[in-house]
Amino acid sequence: HTRKNENVGNLIRDVVLLLQSQARLKNVTLQVDEPINEKIYCDSSQIKQVLINLIKNAIEAMNEPGNINLFVETIDEHTVINVQDEGVGISQEVIDQIGVAFFTTKENGTGLGLNITKQILEGHGGFLKVMKNDIKGSTFQLYFPKVTTS
Ligand code: ADP
Ligand code: MG
Repeated sequence: HTRKNENVGNLIRDVVLLLQSQARLKNVTLQVDEPINEKIYCDSSQIKQVLINLIKNAIEAMNEPGNINLFVETIDEHTVINVQDEGVGISQEVIDQIGVAFFTTKENGTGLGLNITKQILEGHGGFLKVMKNDIKGSTFQLYFPKVTTS
């Protein structure tokens, strides 16, 4: 695995292209807030795997047409990728189990996606945060150390 500074927008757009048809089947729109100029120091294939895991979960959580919003922000010393859905939402009990290997609430789930996601993020000096949205659905936040040089 090799790491370099990668434009976050490129990573997100590549993954959106991969998952577009899966989203359309459920009348879900993958909405990317452009422009995205932030960079993160990472192994691009690992971070694409993380984004695939989160966006797939978001699509699976949607039980009616709606949007999944993807946006990037800077919070203190971190660059943060947000995956915000309008799905079923998430209870505190489930939030507490997030990242535990084989924890799933799905009939055909493996419960490995978020475990791998956490491991990859921590390997990049970052972390995962999960919250229930006020109105509907949940938001998964990927925190990365801010790249100092561009
Ligand atoms: P799997 O998708 O195989 O169940 P994951 O590790 O990807 O495994 O997710 C674990 C659990 O976390 C899911 O079974 C689900 O209960 C919960 N979860 C993950 N993403 C979301 C989401 N976007 N909305 C609601 N619940 C979620
Ligand atoms: Mg999953």
